[in-house]
Formats: sequence, C-alpha cells, structure tokens
Amino acid sequence: MSDPMVEIVDVHKSYGSGTVLDGVDLIVHPGEVTVLIGPSGAGKSTLLRVINHLEKADRGVVLVGGELIGYRRVGKHLRELREREVLRQRTGIGFVFQDFNLFANLTVLENVAEAPRSAQGRPASEVYPLARRLLERVGLADKADAHPRRLSGGQQQRVAIARALALEPKLLLFDEPTSALDPELVGEVLDVMKSLAAAGTTMIVVTHEMGFAREVADKVVFMADGRIVEQGLPSQVLRNPAHERTRAFLAKIL
Ligand code: ADP
Ligand code: MG
Repeated sequence: MSDPMVEIVDVHKSYGSGTVLDGVDLIVHPGEVTVLIGPSGAGKSTLLRVINHLEKADRGVVLVGGELIGYRRVGKHLRELREREVLRQRTGIGFVFQDFNLFANLTVLENVAEAPRSAQGRPASEVYPLARRLLERVGLADKADAHPRRLSGGQQQRVAIARALALEPKLLLFDEPTSALDPELVGEVLDVMKSLAAAGTTMIVVTHEMGFAREVADKVVFMADGRIVEQGLPSQVLRNPAHERTRAFLAKIL
C-alpha cells in the first residue's frame, strides 16, 4: 500500500475547559475521498483547521505527504515553524469554505490567479493561462472577466474550487461547501467535486450531502464530541452503522 497522504495522530484540542478534539487518529491515502460527518459542534471544522495549522493542536501531530505540519522535530521535541514555512506548507493544502471567501474587488480570473502570483511569485504569462484552464475545468471559462457578485452562489463556489486548485495542492479540504447554497445550485458544485474525485484528487470533505458520500466517498468518518465514533465504507457506515450515536445522527438527517 502507498504511504499515507494524511496522517492524523492522537490530536487533542481544547478551548478553555471545552474539549473540541479528544484524541483523533485518521489516515487518508493518496487519491482517497474521505467524507466527514457528524452533528454540529462535533469538531469537524476544527479538525480541518488543525490539518493546515490554522489551529494548533494541544497534543498530537498531523503529517501531509509525510511532512510534519506546523512543526519540526528537534530531538524529542517539536518546535513550531516560522510563519513563512507554515504558509509554504499551506500552499500544498487547498481549502474550500462554506462561504466562498472570494475577493470581491478582483475578477474571477484574478481570484484564481492571485495565490500563484502572490504566494509563489509566478509570472502572469504562466499563471493566467493556468487560471483559464482551471475555470474551464469548473465550467466557468465564460465568466473569467466577471466580478464575483455577478455570479450565483454555485458559480462562486466553483470559482473558489478553481482558486484552491491553482496552487496544485496535494490535498483538498472542503468545509460544508454546499451548505450556503440554494438547493438548486448544490448539484453543480457536487458535480465539480465528483470530477476532481474521479481525477484522483485526495480530498477530505465535511458535508451533509449523503448522496455524495454514498456515491463518491472511499471512506465515511462519523465524529461526535471530538472523537471518531466509527469509520468505514459508505455502505457500512451509512447503511449499517455499528454505533447507536451514528444511527441517531443518520435518522435525523436522512
Ligand atoms: P463542527 O464543525 O463539527 O460543527 P467545530 O469544530 O466548529 O464543530 O466546533 C467544535 C466546538 O468547538 C464547538 O463547541 C465550538 O463552539 C467550539 N469552538 C470552535 N472554535 C472555537 C474558538 N475559536 N473558540 C472557542 N470555541 C470554539
Ligand atoms: Mg463546522
């Protein structure tokens, strides 16, 4: 079997006296789609944020592509990396948020080109053709010169996906990418995500879209109270959950 793309080892996180992640272990292999489900407050968003070091774990480590995220080992200890190093690591991890987070003052094309230009300093002659190819990939080649506010929510989210792809990340994280969308716009975003999955992109997706989970996930992970309660094939976890907690959650959302 190939080396894991993501290794999460015994991650703990608290805010004050509230435990948000309580010993999470998770392995994701290259090309796998992992769908993370669970009730509100389970710690799903926090876990995604720990993966790219937007949040620091109190204990435990995350490795992406074999590289320790946010730290380097010095003897037996971990020393936090400088901001510049963390930013470099983050360029390898694309993040798609619920609320798109596009730059309102930039065109669609400029949104997609921004990170390779500013974070990687790549020349416009190289980055703009790349951005156009990515817009084509999400079906928005004709919107390159529009501003985000002229686009529907579904189109804006597809731009956000193209933008996340622009740094050619080895891993894509999605935090409820369709939750802010009108129901009729959900499908177009899920279709883009399906095409990424089919192309072998490694993805961790927090979503309540159980159809997507059934169809696309290699693994479904159910979290509650900061712990992974169970994980397995979608057919196991969604159809035949082993835990009462999972059954109760699925009964509410299906
Ligand atoms: P989920 O995404 O599964 O709904 P979150 O990871 O957003 O869960 O949150 C888990 C818990 O952590 C919640 O109880 C939330 O209130 C708390 N939490 C998240 N971020 C912070 C923060 N920055 N400060 C304090 N509490 C937080
Ligand atoms: Mg969340």
